[in-house]
Amino acid sequence: ECLLALETSCDETAASVVDLNGRVLSSEVVTQIEAHRVYGGVVPELASRNHIMHMRELCEQALESAGVKLGEVSAFAATSGPGLVSSLLIGSTMAKALALAEDKPYLAINHLEGHLLSPFMGYGGSDEDLGMAIPPHVALIVSGGHTMLLHVKAVGDYQLLGRTRDDAAGEAFDKVGKMLGLPYPGGPEIDKLAVGGDKKAFEFPRSMMEAGNLEFSFSGLKTAVLYHLPKIDLKDAQTLKDVCASFQEAVIEVLVEKALRAAKLCGVLLISVSGGVSCNRRLRERLVERGGQQSVEIKLTQPRYSTDNAAMIGFAAVHRWRAGLRSALETDVSPNLPLVS
Ligand code: ATP
Ligand code: MG
Ligand code: FE
Repeated sequence: ECLLALETSCDETAASVVDLNGRVLSSEVVTQIEAHRVYGGVVPELASRNHIMHMRELCEQALESAGVKLGEVSAFAATSGPGLVSSLLIGSTMAKALALAEDKPYLAINHLEGHLLSPFMGYGGSDEDLGMAIPPHVALIVSGGHTMLLHVKAVGDYQLLGRTRDDAAGEAFDKVGKMLGLPYPGGPEIDKLAVGGDKKAFEFPRSMMEAGNLEFSFSGLKTAVLYHLPKIDLKDAQTLKDVCASFQEAVIEVLVEKALRAAKLCGVLLISVSGGVSCNRRLRERLVERGGQQSVEIKLTQPRYSTDNAAMIGFAAVHRWRAGLRSALETDVSPNLPLVS
């Protein structure tokens, strides 16, 4: 028994088949990064048209590589928010249409819950129950649109501890990448360039570090990089690497220290980390290093499930399914769907 899950919240079109034990049977992703690169960011109209073009074939591929026939699918799930409304509509309409045609339930899934639970995919529990037992912990979500710390008490029981006041971590990476003349998205480019750079070459600010503060702010850091630009030569390869390494370190230090602070506050010894920025190699390295020093276990999302994908939506859907939850076909998409109400 399995679910078919669709993800179209932004510029990735994705379909996945996940069995009712949380095992990923297939995960197909078509990224539109190339299509949007010439514009330096995501163009909503272009994104939704591309979703329409790929959706049907992607569903067929996901079923085929899972070795599952449409009639064998127990329920259809799709991301219903947050995201671009014109993009969300494509996946959710497809999932609802399939649910209606096959006379099976529909599940509307919060994209952020997909990210939040993704570190547990394929881990823990018995082999029959992959990642279904989720212990109380602190979750750090670092994506293109969100930066949040949450106290996860159980699946569906989340307490917001802190979030960004302005730019998300991924957004800061992408905006700074743009300033430095790097291709979109800047995050992975900065990650690569930072490897050969000096983290201490530039002194960039770490905001909101005063005791007890679990909020984030990255716009001051972005402005600090901007002010440095006229004084440096970006054509010099080493200087570019140094800026990348110094900027990246400023973001990472704040993320790591606040996540550890949150774990202490909540009295937990486990931190999960998800979202596209959790691909960042230096972030992963520092989390494990600092977590180790404080005897806090760090559960990192596998890189292929860090950026947008439908497997994480399917995984979240399985948790809801097993809790007996179903969504009405009338459930609308919601561009600002909150994770914690
Ligand atoms: P949200 O989930 O908040 O709606 P999103 O879905 O656009 O936003 P994700 O797909 O989770 O975000 O992640 C994309 C972001 O991850 C981009 O900002 C990208 O630059 C960033 N990112 C990807 N890889 C890396 C990396 N190695 N280092 C830093 N940032 C990265
Ligand atoms: Mg994306
Ligand atoms: Fe995302």
